[in-house]
Amino acid sequence: MTKVVTRFAPSPTGYLHIGGARTALFNWLFSRHHGGTFLLRIEDTDRERSTDDAVQKIFQGLKWLGLDWDGEPVMQFSRMNRHAEVAHKMLAEGKAYHCYCSQEELEEMRNKAKAEGRPMRYDGRWRDRDPKDAPAGVKPVVRFKAPQAGSTVIKDHVQGDVTFQNEQLDDLIILRSDGTPTYNLSVVVDDHDMGVTHIIRGDDHLTNAARQTQLYLAAGFVVPDFAHIPLIHGPDGAKLSKRHGALGTEAYADMGYLPAAMRNYLLRLGWSHGDEEIISTQQAIEWFGLDHVGRSPARFDFAKLNNLNGHYIRHSSDDDLLAAALPFVEKKLGRACNQAEVAQIKAILPTVKERAKDLNEITEALGFLFVARPIQADAAAQKHLDDAAKARIRTMIETLNGVSDWTAASTEAAVRALSETQQVKLGQLAQPLRAALTGRTVSPPIFDVLAVLGREETLARLADAAR
Ligand code: GLU
Repeated sequence: MTKVVTRFAPSPTGYLHIGGARTALFNWLFSRHHGGTFLLRIEDTDRERSTDDAVQKIFQGLKWLGLDWDGEPVMQFSRMNRHAEVAHKMLAEGKAYHCYCSQEELEEMRNKAKAEGRPMRYDGRWRDRDPKDAPAGVKPVVRFKAPQAGSTVIKDHVQGDVTFQNEQLDDLIILRSDGTPTYNLSVVVDDHDMGVTHIIRGDDHLTNAARQTQLYLAAGFVVPDFAHIPLIHGPDGAKLSKRHGALGTEAYADMGYLPAAMRNYLLRLGWSHGDEEIISTQQAIEWFGLDHVGRSPARFDFAKLNNLNGHYIRHSSDDDLLAAALPFVEKKLGRACNQAEVAQIKAILPTVKERAKDLNEITEALGFLFVARPIQADAAAQKHLDDAAKARIRTMIETLNGVSDWTAASTEAAVRALSETQQVKLGQLAQPLRAALTGRTVSPPIFDVLAVLGREETLARLADAAR
């Protein structure tokens, strides 16, 4: 096989949404699997809708996902002259022609098609007309002389052979009357010039693939391999909407998903390897191929994503997780953490990560570290701070005062011993302890909380609560 070259070709008209991210991932994995090249092309020819902000969001989204592209991104608009050059060559070779149709004529064709209940197709009236008939002062468009008989077959790696009857495809405009190239021409010229061997994209581009194939052949270019992936649907099978998760990658970053979990999740949206659910990126590179891309639309499912994210959080090294979580904590605090605080986070993270499904939950669980005394218990926690509880807290203060080597184990042993001598259940001590130290009814394991807060802060918070 020649060296594999794939590309991701987003239009910068919005964020990098989840479908685009999956397309990028599949292209990236396919090229990495084959030791090939993964290129990025920004399809910014729609000057009205393309924004620089969207371009930056695409870069950021891909970087966040860890999908590194090779070389400089190709900006499609900047290659306009090259696209036009190919059109002019086709014109010179009789593979394209000038069309002088007026808006009124086109409108007529449209109305006729509508009345006959079929899609509008240009009727080819300038295809073989003598250029001498050209009306004066009209700037023509350039149309591609599409084959009129026979069929165009896409040999698609996912969809199989897809046949289009050529009579269904009209003579496409390749240059507008102002000389600017149109979408399908630009895509074909760019993919050819970039040496793209495999086009992997959403199946909403299948009809474009037929038109593009005709253009490739007319231009004398080699037709690349195609793989059109079914679009992602919502859990109910309907087209993906915002509510379903059709959000930008930055929204997923903000929701506290880890890039590795996201990659794993997106991979499984439409690709499978037996029953494997947890697939590391390394393993994915090894296994990925187009033969196991599913033919029916994958369904987006937040519950699955959350499960996977929880898995990746639990299996993150403490250092990696600290690096991922710290920005969330600092954002919530509105300031940087000092060294002592970082050390505290690091100390409690191993237990916190066992229970969290995303980085926001981790941030939430770490909240007790940052509350100022006297801490405000929430309504549920207040219930564990009645007079009887306060009395038990006072006894615990005495007991804990006597603990010499302050650790989770030593404080737990002391409180357990107390529960036995006082003949109260451990929970009757642990709940007030939790309420007093964290202001909540849910927290990381309570004796880890004691350990990380340290003797002084623990006893001070308990004293506050006992008052
Ligand atoms: N720019 C197109 C899009 O955003 C992709 C075109 C292609 O992959 O050929 O959907």
